[in-house]
Amino acid sequence: MNPVLVRSEIRPVAERALAGERLSESDALLLFASRDLHALGALANELRQRRVGNRATYIVNRYLNYSNYCILSCQFCAFARKKRDADGFELTIEQMVTKAREALALGATELHIVGGLHPNLPFDFYLGFLRALKALDARLQLKCFTAIEILHLAWLSKKSVTATLESLKEAGLDSLTGGGAEIFAPAIRQAIARGKESAEEYLDVHRTWHRLGGRSTCTMLYGHLETVEDRVDHLRRLRDLQSDTGGFTGFIPLPYQPDNNRIPVDHPPTGFDSLRTMAVSRAYLDNFDHLTAYWVGLGTKLAQVALSYGADDLHGTILEEHIFHMAGATSPQGRTESELIKAIREAGMVPVQRNTFYEPIRVWDEPSVAVAVSA
Ligand code: SF4
Repeated sequence: MNPVLVRSEIRPVAERALAGERLSESDALLLFASRDLHALGALANELRQRRVGNRATYIVNRYLNYSNYCILSCQFCAFARKKRDADGFELTIEQMVTKAREALALGATELHIVGGLHPNLPFDFYLGFLRALKALDARLQLKCFTAIEILHLAWLSKKSVTATLESLKEAGLDSLTGGGAEIFAPAIRQAIARGKESAEEYLDVHRTWHRLGGRSTCTMLYGHLETVEDRVDHLRRLRDLQSDTGGFTGFIPLPYQPDNNRIPVDHPPTGFDSLRTMAVSRAYLDNFDHLTAYWVGLGTKLAQVALSYGADDLHGTILEEHIFHMAGATSPQGRTESELIKAIREAGMVPVQRNTFYEPIRVWDEPSVAVAVSA
């Protein structure tokens, strides 16, 4: 056992996790309560190494928001606009195709497409852009829509969720995004995202998609009004669904961004909190292969460090991120592939370009001698 763990207060929990035992909610709470960040990292890193080895992945992708008009007004959201707002936008299918062509020219293998719940775009618009984008290159993977968008589209199309997902899949949808999970605890969910789908509805959409053979990611928005008990409750529900379907490809913890919204949070997530949340998630989510350090929210430097705290993925190049930046994220709008490769190498891991389903596209060489950390 790592000497850091031998001396740590988390040793009893760590021993059971390393022996392959499933951790309980009280185990996870004990880990969250510990201030022994080095031990949490040692545990998470060992579990990560056993599961995926010394590789860390990234994807060459592009974000594409078709519109920020939304009929809901989630209190934490800085992205949504009403039709009366001067800075609302919506793209035509032709404009989306143009952006997709640019992304393909840069080597993108995935488009990550979400938007608000638009008040009057018809269901055919969504089928239309899926078909148009897929027609550009059948290998381009379309990762689209949050669970609440799927419920909105089901309402628009007057079909069941199952039939809606089947229609979208037939038009070209490859994967659902994990967005919109926020935090499942009802009281907090009501306080930050009143009117949004319930936890059960979020999980039902993903369950239905998984049973159709689809895969998706999932998320947790942390560092706002929730308690660590709420975080553990959230993780438990995701772990339970994963045990049921096995359809989640990865988990992405999202640090709350405090600007331009109506949630009063004096202390958004610190570096310590983000690293312990990643580490506890790795230990508790024993049926997930991949955990993503989302550099948009963490910043590239902390995301790089998170690779030693249980994460094995840096998400993607992204190119044009709006949602976190409208909420105050100070990271760049995109990262180049070489920046992500360099960050992974410096962390002592082998960079691997992946596709939407975390399957390797290109395995880069073994880590070379570390060089200065980039800005
Ligand atoms: S979080 Fe999504 S559903 Fe809620 S207001 Fe923002 S865009 Fe609309």
